[in-house]
Amino acid sequence: MPTKVPHTLDAPQAESPEHAIRLLLEHAHPVATERLALDHAHGRVLAEAIRADRASPAADVSAMDGYAVRTGDAGRLPVLADIPAGVEPIDMPAGGVVRVMTGSCVPAGADLVVKREDVDEQPDAITIDPAIAADLRPGLNIRRRGENIQAGESVANRGVEITPALVGVLASFGHHRVEVYRRVKVAILTTGDEVVPADVSPRPWQLHDSNGPTLAAFLAGALWVAPAAAVHVRDDRGAIRAAIASALERADVLVLSGGVSMGDRDYVPAVLREVGARTLFHGVPQRPGRPTLAAVSIDGQPIVALPGNPVSVAVTARRLVRPVLHALGGLTRTPPPRTVMLVNPDGKSLPLWWHRLVRLVPGGLAESVGSKGSGDLVSAARADGFVVIPPGEPGPGPFEFHPWTL
Ligand code: AMP
Ligand code: MG
Repeated sequence: MPTKVPHTLDAPQAESPEHAIRLLLEHAHPVATERLALDHAHGRVLAEAIRADRASPAADVSAMDGYAVRTGDAGRLPVLADIPAGVEPIDMPAGGVVRVMTGSCVPAGADLVVKREDVDEQPDAITIDPAIAADLRPGLNIRRRGENIQAGESVANRGVEITPALVGVLASFGHHRVEVYRRVKVAILTTGDEVVPADVSPRPWQLHDSNGPTLAAFLAGALWVAPAAAVHVRDDRGAIRAAIASALERADVLVLSGGVSMGDRDYVPAVLREVGARTLFHGVPQRPGRPTLAAVSIDGQPIVALPGNPVSVAVTARRLVRPVLHALGGLTRTPPPRTVMLVNPDGKSLPLWWHRLVRLVPGGLAESVGSKGSGDLVSAARADGFVVIPPGEPGPGPFEFHPWTL
């Protein structure tokens, strides 16, 4: 049900935000890979399939501090050996039990481990109460060799972000170096004559750049992204052309803000054509962010030009730029967006995809946050993110929820 929006822009519009993402993804291929020491790999994207080099655990080990015994052992039993963790396994001696710790190899011939707390300990013996003994089953408190994974089985696939737990797993299987995708280099280019540097006090008709910092902060949320440049240019064709050319020399993807709409000084679409970029779409039936343009450079880099309105930038970065970054970064498994119901539906909808600001509330629900529109960044900062309301859907949902994060 793609909604028709009037064709006021000079290139084809995307039919929907999803269509815009599909068009962009045709030009977003994973970057090259590099080999890193494991202690630098956290937060990067794994670029090789990892297998277990041995079983985990590698031997039958105790899950508790206690005593290795045989099924049926009860009463007073001499402690004949003491096997701390990190010591070679022994055979179970006849006529007694063996003291073990969590992680100790269970002696061959023992059936189970009884917890320290469940026995009466004397200097060289223990006593197992018959009531406790009756509950002891073979295998109790033993982690069996290979119960987590067998040697040669897959531990992790390429395309996953390396979490602290995965770092630990890689270390545990001896992967001290690991192949990862190199960082995705992202250039940010903001435009606008009204935008003044941070150290200049703006007159009422001027403002400080917020889009640059918003985009930089968005990118900073991922360790697999490397900011390549963050530049502001005036609404001047030559300056914009030079800045785009320079950004494309050092980045895998270019994100622009401003200058992409219908104003006389909105030069970005024309300048992109001048530098040989091919426009993929100009206009997405969404609010905010309708004038968004996407192109591909002569060298194949994706370019996303966002309208200057600050809420459009925050929303569209998450909605359209994020999938491009994920694809460039080599990520193949991204959890799908969660869905939420609105607690305060007002029955409103639009004939396009509406990204409405919401705050999360308990119970998997969200409350829509009032907003004065795409210039109202203050309301956006009070929200946790936005929901995607498809054309003509009055609510209350469920709607896809997107937080402000990458
Ligand atoms: P534009 O898309 O260039 O017409 O800009 C749309 C609106 O966004 C205007 O009100 C601009 O002042 C505002 N805007 C443009 N660039 C920025 C920026 N870098 N930071 C904050 N607001 C901006
Ligand atoms: Mg502008």
